[in-house]
Parts: sequence; structure tokens; C-alpha cells
Amino acid sequence: MPDGRFAPSPSAGLHLGNLRTALIAWLFARSTESRFLVRIEDLDPVSSRAEHVESILADLASLGIDHDGPIMFQSERREAHERALAALLATGETYSCFCTRKEILAEAEAAPRAPHAPAFAYTGTCRDLSTRDRNEREAAGRRPTLRVRGEGHSFGFVDDVMGAYEGTIDDFVVRRADGVPAYNLAVVVDDHDQGIGQVVRGDDLLETTPRQLFLSELLGFAPPQYAHVPLVLDSSGERLAKRHGAVTLDDQSAVGRTPKDVLALFAVSLGLADEGETVRAIDLIERFDPAALGRQPWVMPAWITAAQ
Ligand code: GLU
Repeated sequence: MPDGRFAPSPSAGLHLGNLRTALIAWLFARSTESRFLVRIEDLDPVSSRAEHVESILADLASLGIDHDGPIMFQSERREAHERALAALLATGETYSCFCTRKEILAEAEAAPRAPHAPAFAYTGTCRDLSTRDRNEREAAGRRPTLRVRGEGHSFGFVDDVMGAYEGTIDDFVVRRADGVPAYNLAVVVDDHDQGIGQVVRGDDLLETTPRQLFLSELLGFAPPQYAHVPLVLDSSGERLAKRHGAVTLDDQSAVGRTPKDVLALFAVSLGLADEGETVRAIDLIERFDPAALGRQPWVMPAWITAAQ
């Protein structure tokens, strides 16, 4: 059975939306007797915080979301990421890009957007720089990112929740200008090395999945199956964010709701329990039916996030 995982970035603690996604990912794995792994995506040394790692792990445990094996820390995976970057370089499908963020945004805004292209898709300014142009930019002290040639190709796949999806692939970054491997590269390499067969995550990442599948193919990996689950929205239909009131387990406990109460709310929202029923996460495993997961977001009633 395909191993599953939850891969949070410790730039913040988890909010209820992230936790509900973690629960769904865990249910996907456990209902098929698969392993469930946790990977902390702490690649970015600036935004990652140890205290967030602790609170993320404590929150998962308090909802009864257990995991197998040691936790993988993405920041400790540099060698594997560098090996993959070297393999990509060897394909001849990469190039150095000297554009600044500002230039990229300005160009992307001016360019027509291809159907299902990622927002701010790279328009390819540095794709075919001459050696002279490259030398000039290097001499000016610009540090390049490394991009892979997606060149606007289309890549389709069938998502276990969202169905058929096709996206256009721009020339995206695989190594940042500061030398840190980019998220799209790290996630593909780490899922492969951890033997992940099923990636369950929020549908905000659906758009980037064609890029990841493309990278898998370039690196010769067998791709995982994907299930993108609808996000949680607040009562006004906005994506849940910290400013929306009581959105963390700690906030919920401050308004008198225990992790068990929160789990019960999730279970009801997923059609896995009746209102007022007390459940444990393990009770939900045999009730879980991926086919019954809708494609609609869960709009959280205002009373849940109302601070007191
Ligand atoms: N680390 C990413 C995030 O917290 C999720 C990556 C993934 O699940 O592929 O948004």
C-alpha cells in the first residue's frame, strides 16, 4: 500500500485548516494500512522556527494523528538535493537566471497568461542568454537562480480527489539565488527517497503539481499518486488565516474547546460522525471513504473561530 505523509513548513504553527488536511492525509494512509510519515519542510532557514516544529508535532499528537519512523527534516537533506541538482544539470535542461523578483513580476504581469499556467509564470528572459550576456550579469555581481526548462509544456495527471488536471509548466526555479534548493525540487526528491506513494495535501498546491511531476520525470522517479483536498475557508469564504480569530488548537482551548472537540468538528465536516458524537481519530479509519470526499471547501461556521 502506498505510504502517505504530512509535510508542514515550520514557518508558523498549524491552523485548523492545516490540521484537517493532516487528518485526511492520515486517514488516507491508515485506511489502506499504509505507513504515515512526517517531514518537516524547514529548508528556509529564515522562516523556520524550532518552536513551531514542537507545536506542530504536539498538535498532531493531541488529535491522535500518529506517524511511523523517524521524522525527516528537509534541512538535513542537502546532499540528496545537491545530487538531484547535479543530475538535472547533466540533462542540459537547466539554465542560470539573473532576473530579480521585481523584473519577473513586471514581465509576468505584462505577458498573456497561458491556460492553467502558475501565477507569475516565468517568461523566459534568461532562457537563451549568450555567454557574453551571462558574463556581464555575473560581473555585475548578480547571483543566479537555476531554472529548469519547462518551456510552457503541458503536463496532466489524474488527482484522486480533483480528477483530471492539466497545467502549463513554466521555467521554474530549482535552486534559489542563495543556493538553497527550491521547494519544488526538495519535495520531489524527499517524497521519492521516503518512498511516498501517495501525496495528500491542500488544493492550494494543485497548481504546482505538474511542475513536480515534470521534475520526477526528468529525474527518472516513479511519481506518487496525488490527492488534493479542498481547503478550509472562514465563514466569509476567505482562506483560513491567523487573523481570522480562534484558528489554532491553542486558540480553541482558550475558548474552551479541547482537541477532542476539534476532532469531532472535523469528523462532522467530513461526514464521518454525527453532531455531538465523541470520536477518536482511530474510530474514523474504517468510516473513511476517499470517494466521498467532496471537491468543495469546508466553510467553517463563524462560531468555531469566534474568540471570546
Ligand atoms: N510544506 C508545504 C506547506 O506547508 C507542503 C508541501 C507538500 O505537502 O507537498 O505548505
